[in-house]
Amino acid sequence: IAMYRAKGEGKACHVVFDSTMHERAIAHLQLETDLRRAVEQLALDQQLSDRPDAYPTNCQFQLHYQPIVLLSTGRLAGFEALARWIHPTQGMISPVEFIPIAEETGLIVPLGWWILREACHQMRAWQQANGNSCNSLTISVNLSGKQFLQPDLVEQIDQILKDTGLQASCLKLEITESVLIENAEAATVSLEQLRSRQIELSLDDFGTGYSSLSYLHRFPINTLKIDRSFVSRLRTSGNSRQARLPLQIVQTIVTLAHNLGMDVVAEGIETPLELEQLRLLGCEHGQGYLFSKPLNAAAAEKFIYFR
Ligand code: C2E
Ligand code: MG
Ligand code: MG
Ligand code: MG
Repeated sequence: IAMYRAKGEGKACHVVFDSTMHERAIAHLQLETDLRRAVEQLALDQQLSDRPDAYPTNCQFQLHYQPIVLLSTGRLAGFEALARWIHPTQGMISPVEFIPIAEETGLIVPLGWWILREACHQMRAWQQANGNSCNSLTISVNLSGKQFLQPDLVEQIDQILKDTGLQASCLKLEITESVLIENAEAATVSLEQLRSRQIELSLDDFGTGYSSLSYLHRFPINTLKIDRSFVSRLRTSGNSRQARLPLQIVQTIVTLAHNLGMDVVAEGIETPLELEQLRLLGCEHGQGYLFSKPLNAAAAEKFIYFR
């Protein structure tokens, strides 16, 4: 009886699993098609416009901006630009969902250039609207591996800075450890070119990937961004060995960064306790819901005024 039931269940499970997989594959394919269309639309709009930095009117992508603050004073240091896809029927789609599809299909390259251009354009517009009083604010833009390894990376960036009028020193690029490690040689060349233009580089989600410390000194990296998973573990208090471990890990990362001449941004700060501990550890900058969620451009501009 047991065998018979197992077999029966197994068969039933198999059928259910199959049809969900099928549905998922179709949904994925549909999303991929829609994404391709949305990215193609970006290119069309750009061709039609005589201003290379104009925001296309029927654009399905938006950038949201999350404040990055100086932990010692709470002052605004800059923003991280975070992409959103406003799907015509499904509404807002998270980058966690569409960026991987964009990478698989190569669509990330044209989409990524649009994101970079839009972010630089927006930051320059804010600076000008504020009588240049916020000229030292930085804009951080995430670059996917595929985009970072484009042979024309530096030319594209030069062109975007020229078109938008943003100073190179206001731009920070965020890449992850795996991009550097898996492409060390190509990355070194690009990084040196960026450095010579005073464009800063941040290592995103630090601690989640290879966490190989030995390679860090080989690259001209300005900033380590401690991943949110380490920051949220600071929430547990107490004095046991177990409870102190997250604190010690963050301390080690901060010390390492400082010894290498880098500064540190803590991601995902949600509680005053986390903020306090990060301050005590000497972490310079942070971002997280405690200060602000990512904001649309209008709300981010208000944040600049009332910072
Ligand atoms: P990321 O670069 O590590 O960005 C930080 C993510 O953490 C953002 O998620 C942000 O909304 C979220 N976050 C910030 N503070 C908090 C907090 O206090 N609590 C919690 N729970 N979350 C917080 P988002 O916007 O969903 O982006 C997810 C990831 O998608 C980004 O991680 C980045 O890897 C990727 N991404 C976003 N925009 C772009 C883009 O323009 N280009 C590329 N290549 N990747 C992007
Ligand atoms: Mg990032
Ligand atoms: Mg990050
Ligand atoms: Mg992260």
